[in-house]
Amino acid sequence: MNYARFLTAVSTARKPSAIRLLTELQQRSPPSLISLAGGAPNPDTFPFLSAQVRLKSGAELEMNESLMRRALQYSGSYGIPELLSWMKDLQKSLHNPPTINLTPEEGRMEMCVTTGSQEGLGKIFEMLVSPGDNVLLDAPTYSGTLAALQPLGCNLISVPSDQDGIKPSGLSQALESWHPSNPQKPRVLYTIPNGGNPTGASISHERKIEVYELARKHDLLIIEDDPYYFLQFQKPWAPSFLSMDVDGRVLRTDSFSKILSSGIRLGFVTGPKPLVDRVVLHIQASTMHTSSFTQLMVSQLLQGWGQGGFLKHIDSVIEFYSSQRNAMLASADKWLKDIAEWHPPKAGMFLWIKLKGVKDTNKLIMEKALEKEVLLVPGGVFNINSSDPCPYVRAAFSLSTPEQIDEAFRRLAELIRDAELT
Ligand code: PMP
Repeated sequence: MNYARFLTAVSTARKPSAIRLLTELQQRSPPSLISLAGGAPNPDTFPFLSAQVRLKSGAELEMNESLMRRALQYSGSYGIPELLSWMKDLQKSLHNPPTINLTPEEGRMEMCVTTGSQEGLGKIFEMLVSPGDNVLLDAPTYSGTLAALQPLGCNLISVPSDQDGIKPSGLSQALESWHPSNPQKPRVLYTIPNGGNPTGASISHERKIEVYELARKHDLLIIEDDPYYFLQFQKPWAPSFLSMDVDGRVLRTDSFSKILSSGIRLGFVTGPKPLVDRVVLHIQASTMHTSSFTQLMVSQLLQGWGQGGFLKHIDSVIEFYSSQRNAMLASADKWLKDIAEWHPPKAGMFLWIKLKGVKDTNKLIMEKALEKEVLLVPGGVFNINSSDPCPYVRAAFSLSTPEQIDEAFRRLAELIRDAELT
């Protein structure tokens, strides 16, 4: 796999930082090493001493003085070694990419920590998307992705999709329309495989196999943005694109935002080493690394839990969201049956609702919904062209109680009926 052909001029021009490399080396060296190398400040001058974080289980995370010195200091750009190694074990047990068509060095699964998966996506796009490029995605899609991609001057090409995600026939058709020698032929496919934001759609396993085969045929890289992976309501969880990646053409972003905390801003990029190494070059030149404090705190938590404890925690999170989803579906049935359409999501936290008699929900929501004291996201914000009329709204079942959800849908039904009358 020659990855150079996928890289932007900006990415190619990024060079490793010698200072960052020394920080990585120092991180792995014995305490007897005397380093006069780094420009790191002396934590003796910092006001913080130690920290104790109490967990809801009653247990405590102890950030003692020596851990706190590390937490307050610069750290390597890949991530804190103990967190990275914990995450690599987890990714291997969940995805283990069979990169059989790569050299052992290229095919080695690599990871880096990012400040939320949003940072990972931003860096990946900066690395792979040049002005004028044609980028494939299944719109409507996550507005944060549109916000990161659109200013790069690329053309976003929407692949037809439904409640089972991308339609392989649509992807094939889109790709066949480019002559193989056309330099503008798309090289990147972005997709949210589980509990899509905003559609709630999850790509079926059969479609994933077909999509991956098309990526091989047309030499695409797949960006698998999967923050709702751990919110899949049914077991066994769907195999990821990464888990079928024989060629090293999948870059995966994961997030702790929906399962541990969104405010701690922890995400991960996983994929073939040459690509992840390059993502790290982009990190070196911007954030340098994700908060050492956050990483060490979470690493303490995960090491205390072990993989079994982590997955047990995930089960309790799934139980919560699955019951919230059921409550929202019951209220939708009760209030919206004749005036709207939806598909029960298999993962995530969103219900994507098509309002039958409404051409464009933007006007309805922005002008009328607040009067009725109900708020949803008008679907247009997730479209490539946000001013295209869109009959959908996105409803999140994450934060409101079942009673609030029920009342919200009662108000929404009233709003739609009023709109039909006017
Ligand atoms: N991708 C998708 C599809 C999302 O829905 C979100 C969060 N809303 C993100 C990425 C970013 O998540 P974070 O940076 O919190 O990990």
